[in-house]
Amino acid sequence: MLELRYNPLTDEWIIVSAFTQKRPTRPKTTECPICPGGVEFPGTYDLVSFDNKYPSLQLNPPNVVSESPILKRKPAKGNCEVIVYTSNHQSSLSEMPLLQIEKLIEMWVDRTRDLMQYNFVKYIFIFENRGQEVGASLEHPHGQLYAFPFIPIRISRKLDAFEKGYEEHKKCVICKILEEELSKKERIVYENETMITIVPFYARFPYEVHIYPKRHVDSFLYLSGQEKKDLAKALKIITMKYDRLFNIPFPYMMMFFQSPVNTKDFSRIFHFHVEFNPPKRDKNKIKWMASVETGTWTFINPKIPEEAAQELRNIKVEVK
Ligand SMILES: [Zn+2]
Ligand SMILES: [Zn+2]
Repeated sequence: MLELRYNPLTDEWIIVSAFTQKRPTRPKTTECPICPGGVEFPGTYDLVSFDNKYPSLQLNPPNVVSESPILKRKPAKGNCEVIVYTSNHQSSLSEMPLLQIEKLIEMWVDRTRDLMQYNFVKYIFIFENRGQEVGASLEHPHGQLYAFPFIPIRISRKLDAFEKGYEEHKKCVICKILEEELSKKERIVYENETMITIVPFYARFPYEVHIYPKRHVDSFLYLSGQEKKDLAKALKIITMKYDRLFNIPFPYMMMFFQSPVNTKDFSRIFHFHVEFNPPKRDKNKIKWMASVETGTWTFINPKIPEEAAQELRNIKVEVK
């Protein structure tokens, strides 16, 4: 079964996807389906994207008839892709050469441009789940892309907040936050000419990190050549610092937030950003999404963001 179901209690859509139960869980290197020569790729490749075999959304989903006025269902129309970062099974964002991360960014841009051609696609969400702690089923460095036929609920909440903030400050909220962060510098972890990396004032997770372009830009599509290079460097430096923090491959959810597509124009109010939400609060401790976080969406962060920023800032890493 694959379908969208409407939750009238929260005004949101749920994806019911019985396929995802069948996906393999953490196969060994020799059985990795996305290594060169594996089930997916008999030949070699550098980096590659392909449709997820266990999709939650499909370009041609099964037809669904909604018979109830309250318990509504819809076809799960959209697309789910896997983006393999490199043919090297042992690598990771923290270990990949900068040039490879730059190529990966170009791929994210290309996939966005391609999928927005479908008029029913409203939101393109690019992300990576790294580590068992956040449910990654394959070790091979890869991320994913969901092309949604609706604007997901947290994105819609962000758009409302950006709109409200714009009215209040007569300016995009991230542009406004940047003025403060750049003058105080207490939460900056790393910055370069065009990107700033901070533990945000409003971090929900102990070692949460955000990357904001210094220039107002709302989507991957409009990043300049220099901004893409600087973003690659910021991604590498943050993930290197994460790996050094407890000297373990640091698990995280990495998420890219861009403007919706094929809907109202949000380019003036919305500011492109990256969120790293890592589940660890210590080497052997997890910050769980428990009742308060899941039920009320109120996060209790056990770590003072300014201290987390200082810890991460003090980890010295070198990128050639
Ligand atoms: Zn592999
Ligand atoms: Zn802005």
